[in-house]
Amino acid sequence: MTPEVEILEGRVARIGALTVRRSLPTRGCRMVGAWCFVDHMGPQAITPDVSVDVGPHPHSGLQTVTWLLSGAFLHRDSLGSEQLIRPGELNLMTAGHGVAHSEENPGMTSGQLHGLQLWVAQPAGTREGEASFEHHHALPQWESTNVAATVLVGTHDSLESPARRDSDHGGMELRLHGGEAVLPVRRDFEYGLIVAEGVVEVEGRLVEPGQLAYLGLARDELTLRAHGRATAMLIGGIPFEERVFMWWNFVARSADEVSRMWQDWATGDERYGRVASSFARIETAAPVWLNPSL
Ligand code: MN
Repeated sequence: MTPEVEILEGRVARIGALTVRRSLPTRGCRMVGAWCFVDHMGPQAITPDVSVDVGPHPHSGLQTVTWLLSGAFLHRDSLGSEQLIRPGELNLMTAGHGVAHSEENPGMTSGQLHGLQLWVAQPAGTREGEASFEHHHALPQWESTNVAATVLVGTHDSLESPARRDSDHGGMELRLHGGEAVLPVRRDFEYGLIVAEGVVEVEGRLVEPGQLAYLGLARDELTLRAHGRATAMLIGGIPFEERVFMWWNFVARSADEVSRMWQDWATGDERYGRVASSFARIETAAPVWLNPSL
């Protein structure tokens, strides 16, 4: 029996001047495999008075997966990386115990910024480990009737992305043309579909930008039908066994652990290192459970 498709509404959030649609986590769905966060940025016109720069900020316990549909971003991190990312390329930062980064407009004052940033929760084995950064500009391409896919992370058919993976999960961009497209998928994976452009029909349900279609486990194939041209991201993985505690830019296991992560950033502890950025560090108020007046 085919599992049901569940359509979950995301919410709109602001990151500086940038409007994002956050479709994971939501009340109805906390994670899809190890995937724990999905932000869809723009499309947003870049003009001299709209700043899309995000100054240095910390991460722990997760990987950031950055994927653009248009525009460019300059990534700088406390490992010394400085990497321009353009559409079709993957930036993958593994935070482990701690890393800091900034995401900056590389001096482009025109055009559109449009993309996705997703987070992957790191498992117990690596979440306290070393940070690392990877950039991939050549990723496996897969094609079938009415669909062209890029494998960002994990495997698809006989293809395998070179991107680091600490758990059994995968993600791919789908460029859909009008008509039916059938993709082989794994029975032991749960899947989620995020639509970035256009409208995609999954088993009679329509999925639009801002939503996440939760597809569950136990499928051998997935049938999608785009209404015209559409771009989507299919994420999946073995259901994540560990119970995560997410707060701000951290993926932890407990409030105490988050308190320490926050404190180490607030006090400038060497845990997160330094980012060679001209933008100001991003600070956030202490977690409410540390505030004695509440
Ligand atoms: Mn970040």
